[in-house]
Amino acid sequence: MATALALACTAVAMFAGSLMAQSGPGVYGACGPEKQKIRAGALPEVVDEDRCPVQGRVIVDGGIGAVVPEPGMTVTADATYTEGHQHLTVSNPRGDQISLDGVGAEPRSEASSDLGTRASGPSPCQDGYHNSRGYKVYNYNRWYANIGSIPDYLSKPGAVAAMKRGGANIFGVQDSCGIPDRVKGELRYKGGTSRQVDIDSNGTCNPNDGESVIGFGDLPDGTLAYACVASWIVDNAPDRVASSDIRLNKEDYAWTTQVSGSCSGRYDVESSVTHERGHTFGLGEASEGSHGNLTMSEDSNGACQISERSLGRGDAKGLNSKY
Ligand SMILES: [Zn+2]
Repeated sequence: MATALALACTAVAMFAGSLMAQSGPGVYGACGPEKQKIRAGALPEVVDEDRCPVQGRVIVDGGIGAVVPEPGMTVTADATYTEGHQHLTVSNPRGDQISLDGVGAEPRSEASSDLGTRASGPSPCQDGYHNSRGYKVYNYNRWYANIGSIPDYLSKPGAVAAMKRGGANIFGVQDSCGIPDRVKGELRYKGGTSRQVDIDSNGTCNPNDGESVIGFGDLPDGTLAYACVASWIVDNAPDRVASSDIRLNKEDYAWTTQVSGSCSGRYDVESSVTHERGHTFGLGEASEGSHGNLTMSEDSNGACQISERSLGRGDAKGLNSKY
């Protein structure tokens, strides 16, 4: 407790210091007190906090960002664009240095997005590629739905049911290839909440409140969905997911829970949540150009289709090998 308190005081002191005219020798230029946001690309991969008082400040990378987590935690931000994807991991093991991963523009997909539903790469059951992040859900994670944020044109129970199915597609390994479910970890829905997701409209993971929430809201134009995963750092084992928030962009995109023949321009809630829940459970991105038929391929496969609800071989194998 005393240690935690001391750390917290240090953090506050560092943060306060960063707001004042502190520009002592050795402070990285990117971290100067006048910089409200710190550009990840201007930092080394491992950042000495004596040279960059980052605690409580926002690290930005491309169009996304994350507030530096408290000591002992890692935050991973994933933005799904209608074309492409951006990822950033900010890790703060002990409070004296942070490490960054995923910095820089992700390679732009070469797949044609104009056709919407067609993706390039092997068929889903012939593509075993997967990409793993350094964390997983131990046992279970409780989550809530921000009911008030669900657009009025959707049935609220229907939207929550689609969110639940999206999660179950991941932890229940719902693939089309006959691969069994070996995932020892699950999501438990705890009900509605008025609590906001810890994601803001400019695409930043805010400090997590320890509760996992899915909601609709605003995100930068071009960003369909956004996931933040906060995890506790574990030595010699995958980090343990503490909370995972997901926001679906309802300001720039329209949504549906049932794709029918008359669907026009609406994105499927379950498909998007399935992909973002892949991030909750520790899967990373697969490139659109080479693995476009996997659920974890970086682009959405477009409006009015449900292909990402069903996992491909690589998605399923990635989950089973992690759990
Ligand atoms: Zn993603």
